[in-house]
Amino acid sequence: MNYQNNLEFAQQLDAEDELKQYRDSFFIPQHNSQNAVYLCGNSLGLQPKSAGSYIQQQLRNWQQHAVEGWFQGDEPWLSYHKALLNPLAGLLGAQPAEITIMNSLTVNLHLLMVSFYKPAGKRIKILMEAGAFPSDQYAVESQVKFHGLDPVDSIIEIFPREGEVTLRTEDILSKIAENAEEIALVLFSGINYYTGQLFNMPAIANAAHEAGAYVGFDLAHAAGNVELQLHNWGADFASWCSYKYMNSGPGGISGIFVHEKHFNDDSLDRFAGWWGYRRDKQFLMAQGFEPEVGAQGWNVSTSPIILMAMHKASLDIFEQAGGIKLLRAKGDMLTGYLEFLIKEINLKHGEDLFTIITPSNQSERGSQLSVVCKYRAKETFNYLADNGVIGDWREPDVIRMSPVPLYNTFADVYKAAATLAQSVIDLK
Ligand SMILES: *Cc1c(COP(=O)(O)O)cnc(C)c1O
Repeated sequence: MNYQNNLEFAQQLDAEDELKQYRDSFFIPQHNSQNAVYLCGNSLGLQPKSAGSYIQQQLRNWQQHAVEGWFQGDEPWLSYHKALLNPLAGLLGAQPAEITIMNSLTVNLHLLMVSFYKPAGKRIKILMEAGAFPSDQYAVESQVKFHGLDPVDSIIEIFPREGEVTLRTEDILSKIAENAEEIALVLFSGINYYTGQLFNMPAIANAAHEAGAYVGFDLAHAAGNVELQLHNWGADFASWCSYKYMNSGPGGISGIFVHEKHFNDDSLDRFAGWWGYRRDKQFLMAQGFEPEVGAQGWNVSTSPIILMAMHKASLDIFEQAGGIKLLRAKGDMLTGYLEFLIKEINLKHGEDLFTIITPSNQSERGSQLSVVCKYRAKETFNYLADNGVIGDWREPDVIRMSPVPLYNTFADVYKAAATLAQSVIDLK
């Protein structure tokens, strides 16, 4: 793509964009009575305009049917989740039975580690990327301690090479192979939250299995952002959150993936609750836990219908827009345009004022670019915010910007970069 550094070019791309109508499905936050340039969908996706009516619908069902709402009405709550499985399966590359919707992400990582982190003999270690999201680090550390092990000896972190910021796939694979006999679990993010690097999940899954370990992925920054093939890659498990690229509201409901190869494995432990019980016998209230077949057998508690309604409002838009492949194609163009414009600023000043640490290869990233500011980093971030460009800040000098294909425009990207260019002049 030959990009141009002017607003008319950006507007031309917007005019030709076949997904442009979906922006109107979202509330765009306002800045000085104008649409802000919202590039923070990696942290909290925008609110679908339909979310309110989806919630209202369930409030009406509650009002009219009260407890009978579980069984009656146009969308009985007992099976409400079913309408979400197909769209999610499309986003995740999973079979519907491999998914269930529940809890929040960190809680789910804990529940999944109950099943898939089983330290025994020499095989006691968890291998993960260094600099993983803090919640994942805390979860892993506390799981290791729960088994009476010392995190120092039991967690292997993979660091970038000296002078590099992202990880090389070959280094990840060789680290797994080197420690093959001691690794119980490989737990990786799909996309690292800080650098925006998209990892080679199929290669990592293969290497983990060759080492005799389980492999799980944290898809917080990958779900709804990039194409995933969890089933074909053979991942043992995964979890995600729905409030980032999946636009399902602050603290929105999470879900898990468990590969079908584990459906009949009685040796897997799990922390059980009645919502994971065989559906045909759930209300017999019998003694002795019998799990429902499939990921649903990992459910613990009653479905939070209001959270699921918000999730459904958003997933229905993904369906209408034709799924993740089309969205990713536009996303690559948007992110590529942002990259081009940031490089233009550096060219103009003859100096790398802004260094993009996210891989430049499209197959190694999604929508996010992480930009290191050489000078006045925090002031630059504040300048952007004061001028209606909303990214997010990560210590010590990184601004993350994520143009999201469902609701961002090429003109948004142009304005963000023009504001960044102006900050260089105004902050001198
Ligand atoms: C956003 C994010 C979380 C947040 O977890 P919650 O339990 O939803 O608060 C966890 N891990 C990663 C990698 C994240 O990006």
